[in-house]
Amino acid sequence: MNLDPRTLLFSLILTNALMVLSLFVAATGGNGDRKRDGMGKWAAAMLLETLTWTLIAARGTIPDVFSIIVANGFKAASHALILAAICEFQQRQAPRWQYLAPVALTLVMAAILVDDIRDRFIWGSLIYSFQMVLIARTLLSDTETRAGRAWRLLFGGCAMIVLVLGLRAVVALSGYSEFAQPQNAASPHPVQIISFIAVMATALLGSIGFVLMVKERTDREIMHLAMTDSLTQVPNRRALMEHAEHALARRSGSPLALLMIDVDNFKLINDTHGHPAGDEVLRKVAGRLAGRLRGHDVLGRYGGEEFCVIAPDTDTGGALNLAESLRETIASSSFATECGNLSVSISIGISHCPSDVTRELKDVLAEADAALYAAKQAGRNKVVCCGIENA
Ligand code: GH3
Ligand code: MG
Ligand code: MG
Repeated sequence: MNLDPRTLLFSLILTNALMVLSLFVAATGGNGDRKRDGMGKWAAAMLLETLTWTLIAARGTIPDVFSIIVANGFKAASHALILAAICEFQQRQAPRWQYLAPVALTLVMAAILVDDIRDRFIWGSLIYSFQMVLIARTLLSDTETRAGRAWRLLFGGCAMIVLVLGLRAVVALSGYSEFAQPQNAASPHPVQIISFIAVMATALLGSIGFVLMVKERTDREIMHLAMTDSLTQVPNRRALMEHAEHALARRSGSPLALLMIDVDNFKLINDTHGHPAGDEVLRKVAGRLAGRLRGHDVLGRYGGEEFCVIAPDTDTGGALNLAESLRETIASSSFATECGNLSVSISIGISHCPSDVTRELKDVLAEADAALYAAKQAGRNKVVCCGIENA
């Protein structure tokens, strides 16, 4: 394949420039919160990358100070901005030297070695690889995003760049001095072609990876909002029902209990102390209940002042103990509100699914509801298990 270095550079610059344009459009859209996701810094990094290749393409027609020293400085600065973008995304700070030292060292070494392409390549490979290691380390430290596909694209991109930089350094060390001279009309060295393809691929895949990483986090946040009750921060009815369906379907050979919990005379709290105090009590009741549960139990807000607990691996005795401890916790607590300390009680209805019986969720809920009604009829602040009388 007879490839011309200038054409390769031109296509690299064109793809980078178009990507910068779309990244800036993506970075400036959305609400104010988007500013902390690192997109602006990533777009700026890609802009510097584009300028780097533009200056390199002009080598021989513009002074060396621009096409060599400034170009190398821009390249190192673009890596520093990538690090800054990832840090901003993770809402953390990297030490300042991690940004500045590689850029300063690159400028100094490019100035010293302005006439020595071989040593410039070796030094450049060392510094840029070091920057990639810093970026990879920052990516590795984020356990939340590590599970996503985007993370793999970014991490893979870093690894690919380090590989290519190493390859270029080895070729330079072997004494091939014509390497990567854009003014050289001859067909480029195979490693140079690999470098161009790798640089183009990593810029494209890295940018797509970063945008995808931002999107994956936004998706997680939206999912959390859609599944969480905004007042009490426990799972909302939709999440609770989904969880209950799964728990019912998954339990192979183990019992399951569903507790329906209702705050007693809650209307009175609202009527006497106002809705804000009522809200505060609901928030704190939910917190106190959640704090009392075992690791695999799930508490959710069923609606209004009603909560549900899904308790897997729980037989009738276990469910009664759990419900009794929840009732006792609330009855013995006082809840601080702007209207002073308020006390409330809860009534609990239990529906129990034995290990050997398949049941529909709607039947389980109806049974717990009936038990809850019985607990209210029995005078409130009570626990009733369907089929068992309990005071
Ligand atoms: P019972 O012991 O029979 O359950 O009596 P209750 O007063 O608790 O029951 P009722 O169903 O009559 O009233 C429930 C009240 O809960 C009425 C409603 O305004 C209030 N409520 C529901 N959701 C909220 C909320 O998010 N915040 C506040 N402050 N009140 C709520
Ligand atoms: Mg109610
Ligand atoms: Mg009530």
